[in-house]
Amino acid sequence: MIAKNDSLVERVWRAGVVGAGGAGFPTWKKIDARAEIVIVNGAECEPLLRNDQQLMASRAAEILRGLKLVMKAVGAKEGVVALKEKYRAAIGELSRLIKPADGVRLHPLKGVYPAGDEFVLVYEVCRRVVPAGKIPLAVGVLVSNPETFLNIARAEKGEAVTGRFLTVTGAVKRPKTLRLPIGTPLKRAVELAGGATVEDPALVVGGPMMGEVASHDGEPVTKTTSSIIVLPRDHKVVVRKQQALDFDLRKTMEICCQCVYCTLICPRSLLGHEFKPHLVMRSLALGLPYPRSPGLSSAAACCACDLCGVYSCPMELPIGRLNKKIAGELEDWNWKRTPQPERPRPAPLREYSLVPVSRLTSRLELKDYDLPAPTDDHDHTVDRVFIPLKQHIGRPAGAVVKRNQKVKQGDLIGGMEPGEMGARVHASISGTVREVTAEMVVIEAG
Ligand code: SF4
Ligand code: SF4
Repeated sequence: MIAKNDSLVERVWRAGVVGAGGAGFPTWKKIDARAEIVIVNGAECEPLLRNDQQLMASRAAEILRGLKLVMKAVGAKEGVVALKEKYRAAIGELSRLIKPADGVRLHPLKGVYPAGDEFVLVYEVCRRVVPAGKIPLAVGVLVSNPETFLNIARAEKGEAVTGRFLTVTGAVKRPKTLRLPIGTPLKRAVELAGGATVEDPALVVGGPMMGEVASHDGEPVTKTTSSIIVLPRDHKVVVRKQQALDFDLRKTMEICCQCVYCTLICPRSLLGHEFKPHLVMRSLALGLPYPRSPGLSSAAACCACDLCGVYSCPMELPIGRLNKKIAGELEDWNWKRTPQPERPRPAPLREYSLVPVSRLTSRLELKDYDLPAPTDDHDHTVDRVFIPLKQHIGRPAGAVVKRNQKVKQGDLIGGMEPGEMGARVHASISGTVREVTAEMVVIEAG
C-alpha cells in the first residue's frame, strides 16, 4: 500500500514511472526499499545504442537530481553513475556537476558486453555478487537506468511520463536519437530518421542482442523502447531472432558438441553462480525431465544476454532463448529454486573472459551500421498515438477515459489502485480519444 504522504514513492507512482531500460518494473515499488548504494546504470552495453550515453550528457543535471532524490528516499550514503569510459561528453558534464558533498561518484566501465547486466554491474562497481534468483537489493544495492532517474526527477515536480528517448538506427538515412510521445507508431520514428534504406525492412525493438523483431511497423513506442534498429529482413540478427523454437531445440539436440565454450564465457557462470549452460544443453539433448534434472533447472540463472550463442558457440546455438523458455516453464510449474551459495565466488580468470563490444558488433555483422545517432531535440508531430495500458511488469492499467473525450498531454488515461503491482498510464499528446479497448487507448491529435 502506498502511504498518501506526498512522498517520492507516491509521486513516482502518480507519474507512472517504470524502469526505462528493461522489462518495465514499476519504479515506485523499486524505490520503496532501503539500500546502501544507488547505481545509475549508464553502461548501455548493446551495440549501436546511443540514447543513454547522450542523455547523460544532455540531461546530466536532472539525472543527478533523480539520483540524489532516490538516495535520500532509500537512505543510501553512496550514489554511483556507472558508464563506459569512452562516454567522454557524459563524463565531462557529470564531473562538472557533481559536488564533493553529494556522496556521488562516477565509475568508468570497460567497453564489454554485457556490462549493463545488473549482476555484472553490481560486481564491477562494488565487488558484491548478487546471488542467483535474487535482485541487487539483496546485497544492499538499487540499480536503475539514466532515463528512469530523469523521470523520477520530473515526477517529483508533478510531471507524468508521456515520452521517451530512443535511438533509431541501422538501415535508415539519418540515424538519430529522438524524444517521442509514448504510443507513436514505430514507422513514424523510422520516417523521422529519414526512412529505411532497404526494401522490406525488419525492425528490431531494443538492442541487437536482447531486442525482439516487431511483428509490424504500426507497433507503438512504449515506456521501455530504447531503440529501433532497422535491418534487411535476411540480416543475421533478424534471422536468428525469428527462428522457430522447435527448430532451435532440434538443432541443439543434434549438434551441441559439449565443447563447454558457452560456460567459459557466460557472465553469470563467471560470477560464481551454480550454472553451466553446456550442462543445460546436455540435459536438453538427453531429453531429461525439467525439475528433476539439476542441469535443466539451473537455466533459471540465465539472463538471456545471448553472448554464448552469438560469440562463443561454434554452432551458434540460441542458448539464451532456450534457457528463457525453460525458465518460463519452470515458473509456470511453481518450481522452487534449489538453494544457491549465499556468497558466490567469481571465477579467478573472469577478467580475461570479457568480450569487447567492438568484436561482438563485427560478429553480428553490424559494423556498417555502427554510426553516430545524434540527439534531435525537436518536438515532432504525431497524428495518432496508440498507448498500451500495459507497458510494465504487473497488472494492466484500467482505462479511465471514454471514446470522443478530450484529453490534455499528461492527463491520466489508465488507472491503478495504490499498492497494486503495476503503473499508471497518461495521455502522451493532447487531442481526442478515438478508441478504448482493454489493451489500448488511441488518441488523435488536435
Ligand atoms: S558452446 Fe555450443 S556446442 Fe559448445 S557446449 Fe555450449 S551449446 Fe554446446
Ligand atoms: S545467454 Fe548464455 S551467456 Fe548469457 S547468461 Fe545465458 S547462458 Fe550465460
